[in-house]
Amino acid sequence: MTTTNQTLFEKSQQLIPGGVNSPVRAFRSVGGTPVFFKKGLGSKLWDVDGKEYIDYINSWGPMILGHAHPEVVAAVQAAAANSLSFGAPTGLELEMAELINKLVPSMEQVRLNSSGTEATMSAIRTARGFTGRDKIIKFEGCYHGHSDGLLVKAGSGLLTFGEPDSGGVPASVAAHTLTLEYNNTQQLEEIFRQMGDEIACVIIEPVVGNMNLIVPHMEFLQTLRALCTKHGTVLIFDEVMTGFRVALGGAQSLYNIQPDMTTLGKVIGGGLPVGAFGGRKDIMQCLAPVGKVYQAGTLSGNPVAVSAGLTTLKLIQAAGFYDKLTAQTKKLMDGLVEAAKQVGVTFSAQSVGGMFGLYFSQTCPSSYAEIMRDNNKAHFNQFFHSMLDSGIYLGPSAFEAGFVSAAHTDGDIAYTIEAARKAFAMLA
Ligand SMILES: *Cc1c(COP(=O)(O)O)cnc(C)c1O
Repeated sequence: MTTTNQTLFEKSQQLIPGGVNSPVRAFRSVGGTPVFFKKGLGSKLWDVDGKEYIDYINSWGPMILGHAHPEVVAAVQAAAANSLSFGAPTGLELEMAELINKLVPSMEQVRLNSSGTEATMSAIRTARGFTGRDKIIKFEGCYHGHSDGLLVKAGSGLLTFGEPDSGGVPASVAAHTLTLEYNNTQQLEEIFRQMGDEIACVIIEPVVGNMNLIVPHMEFLQTLRALCTKHGTVLIFDEVMTGFRVALGGAQSLYNIQPDMTTLGKVIGGGLPVGAFGGRKDIMQCLAPVGKVYQAGTLSGNPVAVSAGLTTLKLIQAAGFYDKLTAQTKKLMDGLVEAAKQVGVTFSAQSVGGMFGLYFSQTCPSSYAEIMRDNNKAHFNQFFHSMLDSGIYLGPSAFEAGFVSAAHTDGDIAYTIEAARKAFAMLA
């Protein structure tokens, strides 16, 4: 019997490249037919064939309150009734800037846009304008959106497809991007010794969520901060994924390291398109109309999107919100590790706040090279499909992080662990 999912996917491939509007959605890495959804509520999703799932993607992070949270939906409806867009300033944007500054104090000034890609691209342009330098440093396996200069050894879909670089990116653009190994302090020190004074900025995911989950070594982040300060290099924390996800104040509050600039996305829009970049006032003053660095957006600070984001950011400030999210995510990890151990499957897992990583390797990897070498992709793919059959929706690649929301109940976690027990048994 042909399912509605299959029919939609076949037709979509005629009109949309690969049938999807973002590559990893196509299930190329795990095989099979991508799931087309029609409804979500809390921790649950329903596909077009009526099958129910517990969602551990959460739209890749934004749905931290779960799907269709009534207060977020009401805020969106109220904002929409006052017009969808003005292309002119609103009080909502000021409210958002005040709230970002309160929750992430290193962001002394902030500008809103509509995606994480825009945020990182504009932050880098600002850092270059501020320093008058061209070179930038990123780390292997980190993903910072799909702008040209950042598609150099990016993670996520690119890791999955085994393409270190994208077609269509001029070598001359990529030539300004230096790629170093994550958590390799020695290499970082060496590069700064050689050319520290030529580097405009270093952009980093302070916890990586785009080559599965990779946790930073404290000493690595501290050295990075010190080197950037010494050489006048702008340190950009790309917290598009980690912002309001690993802690209320982002990874910078968790590790107590203050970047010069921060980029935000995902949770900040609560499921609608919002991005933000900001940081030191002296740097942000380089932006037009006060400074010479141009950046703009017709729909930047859109009132409906900002309303969804503001309501989400209000609700996540509830007392104990992150303690509970962190504990719930940890409970899931502990349960999965225990279930794998019982049947002797090589598996490890870890989480930071509401973000998690599952690895079919002895220990949790700490760099791109390690995860590429050690993670058993065939095991992940079998595990993924068994879980999907049981109604557990995980990221469709061995190189994606997972996400728990505040709507995930003890029952959801217990059901997921039971489903994993069956999946692991098949691998034993
Ligand atoms: C998702 C992501 C981006 C890109 O954001 P988009 O909204 O998809 O453009 C950038 N950086 C990081 C760390 C991300 O996780």
